Order: sequence, then C-alpha cells, then structure tokens
Amino acid sequence: MRTILVSACLLGVACRWHAQTVKPSWFVKKFVAEHPEVKLIPVCPEQLGGLSTPRPPVKMRRGRIYITCEDKSKRNDVTGDDITDAFVLGAKKTLAIARKHRCKTAILMKTSPSCSRTGITGKLLLENGIDVISTF
Ligand code: SF4
Repeated sequence: MRTILVSACLLGVACRWHAQTVKPSWFVKKFVAEHPEVKLIPVCPEQLGGLSTPRPPVKMRRGRIYITCEDKSKRNDVTGDDITDAFVLGAKKTLAIARKHRCKTAILMKTSPSCSRTGITGKLLLENGIDVISTF
C-alpha cells in the first residue's frame, strides 16, 4: 500500500499554534477521493518537537525560528526565544516516521515555518528524497 505523510492540520486536527480547528484541506480531500488506495500518515512536526498547543506564533529569520507577537501587525518582530532546536527535533522525528512507513511523498501545509518546502521539516524531507507537495 502507498503511504503518504500529511500535515495533521490539513486533516482538520487542531494542532496549529492558535489551537483553533480549521477546515480540512480541499486538496487533501480531493487527493484521497482520487487515490483511495493511499494510506495517510498524519504528523505535526511542531508537536513532535515537544511544543505545546496552543503555542506562541513564530518567525523564521535567517533559517532560525523565534517566538513573535500574537498581534498580527507586529508579526515580523522577534519578541522571544530562539526555539529552533524544537523545530529541528520535530523535523528529525517526522523524517523517522516517513522512513518507518516508507513514504516517498508528503503533503504539507504551505505557509508553515515547519511544513513548507522552505520550512525546517519540509527542507529535511526534500534533502532526504521525499517529494513535498505544498498546499493549504
Ligand atoms: S503546519 Fe505542520 S507544524 Fe504547523 S500545525 Fe500543521 S502539521 Fe503542525
């Protein structure tokens, strides 16, 4: 059976930083309908890295992850700690899960500092030969 890693929040799991439920991704729903043979493996790299839900929003700067402000107008400011280590740990655990389940593809949340193709997890998966499809 083909296995595909998927960002848990794209399935409607309330694991985003704000802990609010968001609608499951239309792309993932369509993908599953068109590929009924596929088994999805949900992951949330930030939770796997030990971060709580809810958690503070973050900002990526020069490849590192810093806590930022909940106020959207100040979202570009670095206001708190460097928590890159948690993101790197989550990325490594996600890669281990992908390998365990022999996933060759991951469908990941497009705008996340973890899950996007330029995020900490997205990049690690790509560097290890796993194709990353980015979506909302
Ligand atoms: S984008 Fe990735 S790290 Fe962020 S909540 Fe979704 S699954 Fe978790």
